[in-house]
Amino acid sequence: MRPLDPLNTLDIGFLGLGTMGSAMAANLVRAGHRVCVWNRSAEPVAALVARGARRATTPTDVAQTKYLISMLADDKAAREVLLDDAVIRRLAPDGVHMSMSTISVALARELTAAHTSLGRSYLAAPVLGRPDLAASGNLTILAAGAAPLIARAQPVLNCLGRVTWPVGDEPAQANAVKLAFNVMLASAIEAMGEATALVNAHGVRTKSFIELLTSTLFQGPVYATYGALLAERRYRPAGFKLSLGLKDVRLALEASDAAHVHMPFANILRDHLSSAVQRGDGDLDLAALAERALGSPR
Ligand code: NAP
Repeated sequence: MRPLDPLNTLDIGFLGLGTMGSAMAANLVRAGHRVCVWNRSAEPVAALVARGARRATTPTDVAQTKYLISMLADDKAAREVLLDDAVIRRLAPDGVHMSMSTISVALARELTAAHTSLGRSYLAAPVLGRPDLAASGNLTILAAGAAPLIARAQPVLNCLGRVTWPVGDEPAQANAVKLAFNVMLASAIEAMGEATALVNAHGVRTKSFIELLTSTLFQGPVYATYGALLAERRYRPAGFKLSLGLKDVRLALEASDAAHVHMPFANILRDHLSSAVQRGDGDLDLAALAERALGSPR
């Protein structure tokens, strides 16, 4: 990769170096930007610093920038790190905070209001794609907020995703769309698990069934990726943790309750995911949701 013209080098702050955040921040460093990083635990910070990022000791230090990205686990983490006036106030007045975590619609509204009240700009930009797509810069970014703000963030988003898909003027709309996707994702895994159990019971092997369905009527990344994991019952290392999948289905149900939308499938998914977490499977890949339906391997 050719070095960036210094005029195009951006100062970017990055909060949250988990599985996704580490891969995304590494892309920004690789693209030649000046990236300042913070994470709750030290190890991922050291790895990014070794690649050329700058270490910050507090989230507030990271926020002092024109481009701030957060990629934290959930509402609890986002609340603890972001709903601090000091962090929001530090953001440059002409800067933009891109919140890329999968958080609740309600918290997205709260964060939008907190930024607006301090004269700062907030964009929701949650992503579609697992860590492999994050590492190759091929995420799909669901962006919501004022159009000029999305345009301002675009040079940064271009380093992280293949496409930025605008979904609305209100940041929370992107979170609603992201949660809807994840309900569909969990439904697809549950459906594959139950259908596989049915054919297994009639003597058809899992691998040949998954190959058949992903080559014919059920093509596409969700069936291909999760079908392969399910066929091999390979749930470690987790690309997307089952516990995060439970978090998303719960958030979708919260958002549906608030809007008086009935989602009976999502209730079943929540129960199955919750049982899986209680069984101790929370750190396995979300594909392990299929285990309840699958019996002994065939
Ligand atoms: P992850 O590997 O579990 O990383 C979570 C990050 O949040 C880590 O940096 C963690 O810090 C931090 N964190 C957790 N609790 C915290 C707290 N109380 N205070 C401060 N920091 C805290 O998760 P991930 O897979 O990278 O996912 C990140 C976000 O992207 C989630 O919202 C997830 O739903 C979403 N997402 C994930 C995928 C995927 O395939 N993995 C795809 C699309 C979207 P530590 O390192 O200290 O634990």
